[in-house]
Amino acid sequence: MFEARGVRRHYPVRQGAFAPRRWLRAVDGVDLVLEPGETLAMVGESGCGKSTLARLLLRLERPTAGEIRYRGQDLWALDRAGVRGFRREVQMVFQDPHASLNPRMRVGAIVGEGMAIHDLARGRERRTRVERLLEQVGLPPEAAEAYPHEFSGGQRQRIGIARALAVEPRVVVADEPVSALDVSVQAQILNLLQDLKEERGLTYLFISHDLRVVEHVSDRVAVMYLGWVVEEAPAETLFPRPLHPYTRALLSAVPVPDPDRRTEPTVPEGDVPNPIAPPPGCPFHPRCPERFGPCDRDVPEDTRPEPGRRVRCHLFR
Ligand code: SF4
Repeated sequence: MFEARGVRRHYPVRQGAFAPRRWLRAVDGVDLVLEPGETLAMVGESGCGKSTLARLLLRLERPTAGEIRYRGQDLWALDRAGVRGFRREVQMVFQDPHASLNPRMRVGAIVGEGMAIHDLARGRERRTRVERLLEQVGLPPEAAEAYPHEFSGGQRQRIGIARALAVEPRVVVADEPVSALDVSVQAQILNLLQDLKEERGLTYLFISHDLRVVEHVSDRVAVMYLGWVVEEAPAETLFPRPLHPYTRALLSAVPVPDPDRRTEPTVPEGDVPNPIAPPPGCPFHPRCPERFGPCDRDVPEDTRPEPGRRVRCHLFR
């Protein structure tokens, strides 16, 4: 569905009127494939580049280098009709359902807006489709007459999902879709997303800082750190057997309710380094409990320690 090759996004920054220009390397050489029908989770701490990468895949920003293809076509070589089709086929579910819904529009108009823009349905048919969509996401059809503030956070996220599905997309990019919700509501929204995916044959790109969330919804996981994908693997192998020290640290930060699964508290100390001046060698080395000889000197390359799995760490050379 998507294919990213060598994608970089660097932003020029000046720290003072006469200071030389430097570069913030938000995304720094990412290769990624999103297969039809799968859920790929992009995981990492704040500032790791996952949201920038999502903006590049959504064609909201142009890469500094590299290429992104959507269904085989270079995203930046699409003509007007191609861009319009892309805008319909790839929809977004946002983190904050409160901020992403126009408070002055009724829910029916919010959900039906995309249908109007893409001229998919008019009049009575549009209204019928909106009501059916509201039912599919677990809201009564009468919700179409209400305003967003009349709903709870979980219900507003259901409205956001109905809006995304209204234009019959192929791909849904969900950017931290449950992180603003109560834990008790998170599972309901995740189950809804999962059911809709199966019913409609959707492809998901799921962005999250929370491994607990992606463990049960993802087919594959890409772990990002300072603009790199440091590990990519099928969920079924990554969770029981994480390889990269950063993935292991992220997983050890997740409370495990099972007393038989022991985790060592190996979360590294310190913050994510400044992406304007990343450390030499492996960017994780200042926080890595397993750093050794080459780590502060040589940049690790991608290795494939087993089929379907990539790791960027000197331990796996
Ligand atoms: Fe740690 Fe070295 Fe691997 Fe980087 S390359 S994650 S510093 S062991």
